[in-house]
Amino acid sequence: MKMLSVVLRNLFSPPVTRKYPQEIRSPFPATRGEIVFTVEECMTCRRCERTCPVGAIKVEIGPRLEVASAGEGQTRGAGRLIKRRYDPYKCIYCGLCIEVCPQGIIVFQGTHTSPATRKEEKVAVYTLGARKPAARPAEEKKEAAMN
Ligand code: SF4
Ligand code: SF4
Repeated sequence: MKMLSVVLRNLFSPPVTRKYPQEIRSPFPATRGEIVFTVEECMTCRRCERTCPVGAIKVEIGPRLEVASAGEGQTRGAGRLIKRRYDPYKCIYCGLCIEVCPQGIIVFQGTHTSPATRKEEKVAVYTLGARKPAARPAEEKKEAAMN
């Protein structure tokens, strides 16, 4: 009799789980979620790489090269080709790279990580001009880290 009541209750009650990915719940406040990085303001100091406890970040600094044409925000003249690798499958989302980045350009996005069929690194390739980007004011960094 008890079992019958459980069956009937479950039969007419709504499901307790969501139909993910059709129904996506908004992240809770302070959700860590995906890590994103703004290439343009990286100073290539490599603090994120040195701090990461699992080696999920690698910043490779290439040889000096001539920047043929400078676009908006770029420096004309000699530069270096930078390759920054981030492996989200090694990352344990500890947030240490976010704490140490002097530019405040690594942030938790608070969104779900997209499903993937292959474990691939995220690679950003960019040119660091002869003049490094200016350091951001402390309040701006704090604001970026909180968003
Ligand atoms: S969150 Fe932690 S584990 Fe992930 S890249 Fe940053 S320092 Fe490394
Ligand atoms: S700590 Fe920040 S500024 Fe330094 S290399 Fe990493 S992302 Fe770039």
